[in-house]
Amino acid sequence: MSTVKDYFGSMVFDDRVMKSTLSAKVYASLKKTIDEGAELDINVANAVAAAMKDWAISKGATHYTHWFQPLTGITAEKHDSFITPSPDGSVIMEFSGKELIKGEPDASSFPSGGLRATFEARGYTAWDPTSYAFIKGKTLCIPTAFCSYGGHALDKKTPLIRSMEALNKQALRILKLFGNDKVKRVTSSVGPEQEYFLVTKEMYEQRPDLRFTGRTLFGAKPPKGQEMDDHYFGVIKPRVAAYMEELNDELWKLGVLAKTEHNEVAPAQHELAPIYTTTNIATDHNQLTMEIMQKVASKHGLVCLLHEKPFAGVNGSGKHNNWSIATDLGQNLLSPGATPYENAQFLLFLCAVIKAVDDYQDLLRISVATAGNDHRLGANEAPPAVVSIFLGDELNAVLEAIETDTPYKGVEKTQMKLGATVLPKFNRDTTDRNRTSPFAFTGNKFEFRMLGSSNSIACANIMLNTAVAESLKIYADRLEGAKDFETALHEMIKKTIKDHKRIIFNGNGYDDSWIKEATEKRGLLNYRTTVDCMPHLLDKKNVDMLTSHGVFSLAELESRYEITLENYCKTIIIEANTMLNMALTDILPAVAKYTRVLAKGINAKKNIDPEIACDYETKTLKTLSGLIDSIGLKCEELESVLNTVNGADDIEEQSFAIRDKLTLKMSELRALCDVAETKTAKKYWPYPSYADLLFGVK
Ligand code: ADP
Ligand code: MG
Repeated sequence: MSTVKDYFGSMVFDDRVMKSTLSAKVYASLKKTIDEGAELDINVANAVAAAMKDWAISKGATHYTHWFQPLTGITAEKHDSFITPSPDGSVIMEFSGKELIKGEPDASSFPSGGLRATFEARGYTAWDPTSYAFIKGKTLCIPTAFCSYGGHALDKKTPLIRSMEALNKQALRILKLFGNDKVKRVTSSVGPEQEYFLVTKEMYEQRPDLRFTGRTLFGAKPPKGQEMDDHYFGVIKPRVAAYMEELNDELWKLGVLAKTEHNEVAPAQHELAPIYTTTNIATDHNQLTMEIMQKVASKHGLVCLLHEKPFAGVNGSGKHNNWSIATDLGQNLLSPGATPYENAQFLLFLCAVIKAVDDYQDLLRISVATAGNDHRLGANEAPPAVVSIFLGDELNAVLEAIETDTPYKGVEKTQMKLGATVLPKFNRDTTDRNRTSPFAFTGNKFEFRMLGSSNSIACANIMLNTAVAESLKIYADRLEGAKDFETALHEMIKKTIKDHKRIIFNGNGYDDSWIKEATEKRGLLNYRTTVDCMPHLLDKKNVDMLTSHGVFSLAELESRYEITLENYCKTIIIEANTMLNMALTDILPAVAKYTRVLAKGINAKKNIDPEIACDYETKTLKTLSGLIDSIGLKCEELESVLNTVNGADDIEEQSFAIRDKLTLKMSELRALCDVAETKTAKKYWPYPSYADLLFGVK
């Protein structure tokens, strides 16, 4: 029997395959490109393409595709076969270096936010050699970046790679100041924990809301939800276990380091976490993971829901972005060190993150903004829309001691003087667990918890990498010119703590009193919806920062602003239309039918004996008849708001109308229909209930 070790990465053109299929010269040259970003020679590209093709064909592949991540948030691919006709009527299998390096998909149907005028409808894809090619089905997938002919990024990968470069550049400057001149590269790494729901395909098919929007737009509260906390880490049901087993196998073949899996808080909710890896690979892998999750579910008669809030009143799904930065020599820069110097360096990087998160709270909120995630942030299970940092008591006390020049109790009565004192060793296991913080330090990494389950992790990491690069740049500018490095360093760390301690919060982030304190006392931002936060992407301070590091151009930011709002509007308009359709063509007819049955029953009973009691039937009949009228009226109101929304002049006006008017009408309609569900006999209700959906997978 083959073991995981045998088939792990079997579908990946990874370093092992490169080494065994490429000549030493070609391998060395490609490696230089991968590790150091050196330009790739066309002869090398030709040799790599030929080796890739032979390897792919030996694995049963017939096609290749440039695999990329357009701004829709999902991945895109256009398949070309390897075949080229021969004069004798047969075919040969060909794949050139040119085809490997550059592709020209017709980009006109991908969102560009006005970046690509129609005359340059074609964009091009460019090979990203830092992420391995892999085989999916019968297709060799080549990870690529996607740009317009004007050179503007039309994808999520390009700015992500630029942000990693910005972080690398500034971090190297800082390390040099600490005498670390052997380090060649600093890279950010991510381990994204992915939450999801599983429901049966049969029930899914019966719910137009799930099929069209990924979430339930109606559904009365089930008698049992997550109150008992009996699902979290509970025993995994056999059908789910079989699913997870196959999912792991498929991911392992693709080189994805799927590591842990468990049940989550809500019934039918689960989580998968991979071992962390370089950010752009982690991003590719997370996109693949989401895709394979859905594919494998289908084989098991299940549907995997990746929506942030599939069920009202039940925990939604997020994605925890565990982020750290490390050198090519293997040192994690967010790990407290063993020597005074390492500690000072650690504190400086820690301060860089604190400063970045405070200065760019808005960008972090923006990086996770979608219509779906708006349901989650600020609700009862997700971190609030207010960004803050959790450090834990120990580290907090250290920072306080530095700020006030007072002795830190953990270090026998010594004054905290950087570079002179060994900091107490932080014990990773004792780092408090604070599940309510949007941005928590967990010993040697930060866990950014605001991401929605369906978000690409690219956006969050672009903002995180660049904002931290900006802090480091400011630090390096100052320290490089300092006469007395140690004093300057000490003062700068002190100043950062003083200026930015408002962002540090170690209490309960779900508490209403925190939101009040955060916004009123501390002046932190609270952008509850996508519409509230998005315009700030174009605030001068944000544009200046992002463009100065070469991560986005102004035009790229403008296009992203527009596309995000467009997505928000489209998503909610589709939901509203689906609701109308469900209410008018399923729910109202079903309730009307049930009231007729009740009326008939009452008449039949009264025929036997006019005095007979029909209290229950009569009361229900009256309530439901009243509801039918209210639902009918509400549908008319919703329709009229929808017409206003559709007639809006521009995307901004439309997004305001949706946030302020449409979502309100949608909740009102839902509330009425959900009451009707609780009064209507189950056999007449047209959809599987919440209880059916949440407890349906045995
Ligand atoms: P939790 O208790 O929150 O589940 P885990 O220790 O299981 O925490 O880690 C969660 C994720 O964090 C995993 O994907 C793991 O690989 C990742 N992780 C661990 N160390 C680091 C690190 N230094 N940098 C980035 N991610 C990390
Ligand atoms: Mg976890």
